[in-house]
Amino acid sequence: MLLRYMNQKLHFGLEPQALESFLTDYQGPLYVYDLKGLQKRVEQYRSFLGSKSQIYYATKANSHLDILKSLKKQGVRLDVVSGGEIDQGIKAGFEAREIIFSGVGKTRQEITQALFLRVHQINVESVEELKRIAEIAKSLRVRAQIAFRMNPEVSPQTHPYITTGFRENKFGLDAQALPELLRILKENTEHLELKGLTMHIGSQITDIEVFQEAIQKTKEMFRHVQSQGFTPSRFDVGGGVGIVYEREDLAGEEKLLRNYGQMVQNELKDLDVEIQCEPGRWLVAHNGVLLCQIQYVKETPYKKFLIVDSGMNHLLRPALYEAHHNIWTLNEPSSTAVEVYDVVGPICESSDFLALERALPRCKGGDFLAIADSGAYGMSMASEYNLRALPREICLPE
Ligand SMILES: *Cc1c(COP(=O)(O)O)cnc(C)c1O
Repeated sequence: MLLRYMNQKLHFGLEPQALESFLTDYQGPLYVYDLKGLQKRVEQYRSFLGSKSQIYYATKANSHLDILKSLKKQGVRLDVVSGGEIDQGIKAGFEAREIIFSGVGKTRQEITQALFLRVHQINVESVEELKRIAEIAKSLRVRAQIAFRMNPEVSPQTHPYITTGFRENKFGLDAQALPELLRILKENTEHLELKGLTMHIGSQITDIEVFQEAIQKTKEMFRHVQSQGFTPSRFDVGGGVGIVYEREDLAGEEKLLRNYGQMVQNELKDLDVEIQCEPGRWLVAHNGVLLCQIQYVKETPYKKFLIVDSGMNHLLRPALYEAHHNIWTLNEPSSTAVEVYDVVGPICESSDFLALERALPRCKGGDFLAIADSGAYGMSMASEYNLRALPREICLPE
C-alpha cells in the first residue's frame, strides 16, 4: 500500500510517513517521492525482465537528482532525450557509457555533446539524423554507436497523444527506409557502427499481445539487417508496460509485468542480444505524490469547485491527456458522505483541472489534498506559466 490512513492521517511510502509532517511551514505545493518504493520497483522490473536485460530509465519521467542517484546505486542506466538530460545524468554520477540518447529532434550541438562524451548509444529516428550523426562523427574522428528506432506498425489502444509506433506519427523509422539507412552505414563504416534496433510503441499500454506483435515485427527487421552483413547485438524493447491509476492494483501490475517479461525473453531468446528496456512510469509514478491546499470551495447553481493552489502548471497530465489521478484528503473522512467536485487550479485556462466530477469527502478551504501517482511526468512537465512558482520536491530517505 502506497497511500493509506493510519490513526486518521494519510500516510505515504513503503515505510509509511504521515504526509501532514511535510506541511508545517507550508509554502506552496510540493512533490514527495519515496526512494525505497522506487528501489523496490527497480528490483521487480529487473527480476521480471531477466538477467540478459539492462534497464535504461527514461529520465524524462522524473529527472530529480536524488532519484537518478538512487537508480545509479542500483545499477540502472539512463535513456535521455536532450542535452539537458545528459547533463543531469552526468551530474548524478552516471558515466556517459551508461547513457542512451533518444529523441526525434537532436540538434548538432546535442549530437556533438553525445559523441564527444562517448555515450553508449544514439537511437536514430530519421535518415536525415543519421546523415547528421555521420558528418559530426567524421569531424570528431569517432565511431558513433547507433541503433535504429523502428516503427513496427502496430496501433495500440492508448491515448492518441501517447502512441508512437505508427507510420503516421513523427517518431521512428519505417521498414521501407532500411535500404537507404543501410547504404549510408556502408558508406560510413569508419564513423557509424550499428549496435542494435530499438522500438517504443507508446506509453500506458497494457495489452501484451500488442508488445509481442511489435517485437516480432522488429525482430524480422533485425534479421533482415543481419542478412545484409551487419552484426547488431542489442535489442531495445522501449518503455514500460502500463500501470493502473484508477485504483491501487500493485499485484495486477506485477502480474502483467511478469507476463510481459516472460514474453520478451521468450521472443528474443534465439537472437543472442543484450535486451535493453526503457521504463519510466512503471518505476516512478506510484512513488510520488503532489500535496496542495484548497483555497476556495466555490459553489454555483451548476457545479461545486475545489479551487486549489496547484494545477496544470504542476501536473499537466489531466489537462493534456484527460489522465486520471486519485485524490485523497489528508485527514481520514469521518463519514462516507461525498460531494461531487471539479478540482481545478489557479491558471487562466479552462483545461486547468486535476479532476472533473470527482466524488470526494466534503472539503473546506484550507484543507490539504494529496494527488496520487504523480511521480512520473509530474514535475518533469511542470512550468512556470502565469509566473507561478514550481512545486518544491522532497525525497523520503532510501
Ligand atoms: C517516454 C519514453 C519511454 C518511457 O515510457 P514509459 O511509459 O514512461 O515507460 C521510453 N522510451 C522512449 C523512447 C520514450 O519516448
